[in-house]
Amino acid sequence: MEEMDGAGAYYEFKERCIFCDIIKQEISQNIRLIGQNEHVVAIEPFAPRFPFETWILPRDHIHRFEETDDDTLISFAAMLKSSLARLRAALNDPPFNFIIHTGPWTDGRKSHYHWHMEIFPKLTRVAGFEWGTGFYINPTPPEEAARYLNEINI
Ligand SMILES: [Zn+2]
Ligand SMILES: [Zn+2]
Repeated sequence: MEEMDGAGAYYEFKERCIFCDIIKQEISQNIRLIGQNEHVVAIEPFAPRFPFETWILPRDHIHRFEETDDDTLISFAAMLKSSLARLRAALNDPPFNFIIHTGPWTDGRKSHYHWHMEIFPKLTRVAGFEWGTGFYINPTPPEEAARYLNEINI
């Protein structure tokens, strides 16, 4: 909900989708990108909560996961496979969670949202500081994580 509200506030302010802007910026900067194909990109996001947190996003502005066309889903599946292979090789097969963040079914006002998947390898433990403050301590900058993942031969 926080992320959706944040995306809504950005949209109201800039009249653009924050995720579309992130994708454009990550492709042009090319320092946190770990993969791109015709329909999707995979990045180490700018301010990750966890080391090697990885996002996969459709390049087109697609509000909800279930609105995604087959070509994009096929590209997405390929990117998910290669991203997980990189994480597995780089981090010695860690346990991980992955979550699809998608717009709600009914709310037309929320079309500023742009679905994506977030992958969290479980490398650190969330402890009192994080629970208490809602802020996360992450010892690995995303640029370093991306550099490392890009060195993996898959
Ligand atoms: Zn978008
Ligand atoms: Zn998200």
